[in-house]
Amino acid sequence: MGCAASSANRVAPESAIHAKPTAGDDVAPAKKFAEDDVEMAQEPVSSEPQATLSTGDGGARKLTILHFNDVYNIEEQAREPVGGAARFCAKVKEVRKSGANPLVLFSGDAYNPSLMSTMTLGKQMVPILNEIGVNVSCIGNHEFDYGLDNLMKLNAQCNFPWLMANVLERGTDLPYAGAGTTWIEDWNGIKVGVVGLVEEEWLETLGAVNVSDMIYKDFVEVGREAAAYLKSKGAELLVALTHMREPNDRKLAAEVPEFHLILGGHDHHYVSAFVEPHNNLMVKSGTDFRDLSIIEVEFAAGSSTEPKLSVERIIIDSSVPEDPATKDIVNEYMKIMGDKMDEDIGETLEPLDGRFQTVRNRESNLGNFVADVWRKAAGAQITILNSGSLRSDSILPAGIIKARDFVAILPMVDTTMVLECTGAQVVIALENAVSQWPKLEGRFPQVSGLKFKFDPLQPPGNRIVPGSVYLTEFEMEPELLDMERKYKTAVKEYLGTGKDGFNIFTECKVLVDAEAGVILPSTIKCHFIQLRVLNKWDGKKIWIRSLTSRWIKNAKTRSNVNLVDMEKDAAQDENKSYHHSKSTMDTQERTHGLAVTHPDTGLYCIAPKLEGRIINIREVVEDDEEKEKKKEEEEEEEEPEMQDGNDDTSLLDDL
Ligand SMILES: [Zn+2]
Repeated sequence: MGCAASSANRVAPESAIHAKPTAGDDVAPAKKFAEDDVEMAQEPVSSEPQATLSTGDGGARKLTILHFNDVYNIEEQAREPVGGAARFCAKVKEVRKSGANPLVLFSGDAYNPSLMSTMTLGKQMVPILNEIGVNVSCIGNHEFDYGLDNLMKLNAQCNFPWLMANVLERGTDLPYAGAGTTWIEDWNGIKVGVVGLVEEEWLETLGAVNVSDMIYKDFVEVGREAAAYLKSKGAELLVALTHMREPNDRKLAAEVPEFHLILGGHDHHYVSAFVEPHNNLMVKSGTDFRDLSIIEVEFAAGSSTEPKLSVERIIIDSSVPEDPATKDIVNEYMKIMGDKMDEDIGETLEPLDGRFQTVRNRESNLGNFVADVWRKAAGAQITILNSGSLRSDSILPAGIIKARDFVAILPMVDTTMVLECTGAQVVIALENAVSQWPKLEGRFPQVSGLKFKFDPLQPPGNRIVPGSVYLTEFEMEPELLDMERKYKTAVKEYLGTGKDGFNIFTECKVLVDAEAGVILPSTIKCHFIQLRVLNKWDGKKIWIRSLTSRWIKNAKTRSNVNLVDMEKDAAQDENKSYHHSKSTMDTQERTHGLAVTHPDTGLYCIAPKLEGRIINIREVVEDDEEKEKKKEEEEEEEEPEMQDGNDDTSLLDDL
């Protein structure tokens, strides 16, 4: 198999600088680090000049490791330290030029979130990470933001393996997402073993993949097995490359003393510490190409245990010159991002009303659409979206939606928190949301999973009409919000931290924090991608790995039935368009306009409508449904005699 062949290739193993994993046989079952499937199948694709194996000091062996994690924006930022991939890469190349032959390790989170990634789905990170010369990486939660297929496609283009040893694919028991488990290599005469480990917490919150496809295994347990395995293969320096919170990294360090180094991501702060009681070194290297750790490892002459470890933090500010090759890649993608603005991303049958005078004043169909998609991706029962998030201030006409329209609506890369709020806390939040009405304040809400009435003539804090707040899960009867019960409520981090007067949210238990939460614009982008997939594969059996797929699939099944009916009808030369629009109306209702077939083309598009989610009781009701209800009520009032007459008739019939 590939492993054996590549092992034979490895005459001088430490020369495999750019080790490329091959698909299929590089995945080792995580539960057992068995003989055969151990080493990632390595195919050296370049043979860079070899560094000296040892650097004097009477035979002491030295190794330099470069570590970083959580990188999002490849272009430099406005404030110091400005970071940017070009400066970062220049620093890495500087270390490399010094003759150190560093091992470059990355702890995950690259494909999202950034404005560029909402256009490219993270594609720009592949050439950047390759240019940096990453040797091994660990998968992070944001790699999954645009779905499993996207992650696997991008990972396959990287010149290095992505590890994640403790998540398996249900059914096959192979590592999830085609990940590798361990990596072992001679580097400067030191045999280095690396395992990739993640925590359960963020795994449970992934919005764009199906979590039920995964089997999570405890990172300490798998870490222990991996360490034993790597040692059995002769590894002298053991490294856990992780994507988890600091307390979990510390736990791993304390419970698996075999790891000399715990190199982590997921947190964005910089921290390095020798962790008690074993004094293994834990490092987390900040974020966004602003920080780089240089870790020096030294084994004393004749020793292959207890390496001396030290770490230096390098800050990437504007004093670091830019690497021209990386800068070219950055410029190329800045241009691609510009070009992509003209691409079609979807279609709407309804004009989408994003005017401030609408979204900051009343229910808007655009607000309903965004809130619905976002809530589903976040796995929440309720969403309160502050309308200040919707930035376009215009009506997007029915028709094709361009990428630039989408970016105009949601230009901010907003993070999500999922909170546990009681019904009473939800009402307090809604009170704040409508407290400034009629001022066009960004705190005015657009909601999903909820409907309520407010009375603007009441004083602020007292405007929500008692007994008017209902929970409205799709395809279920609305139920009165229970003041005591706890509801999973998705809000932007901005609100979750108490901004815009939403102090109440700081009192709620955090179920999913901002780093683990879904990215608002990414969830909308994913929704359009799913519709496109449906359009491409319509009529065939498909499997979309997404939480939102379930109800889109419902709509699809339903509309397929209608399509069959329509074909029959067409054969009988009946009015085709009537049936088309009937089907469209049907799916509009069932999916709240999130997945509707176009009456002419049959392609999936969106058609969100006003649904009476937010009712200002002092305003003339304009909603169609309400209008109809009102009309019915009026008719009932006007025709009491006729009803009596009907009743009489039925009585007579019974007799
Ligand atoms: Zn993360």
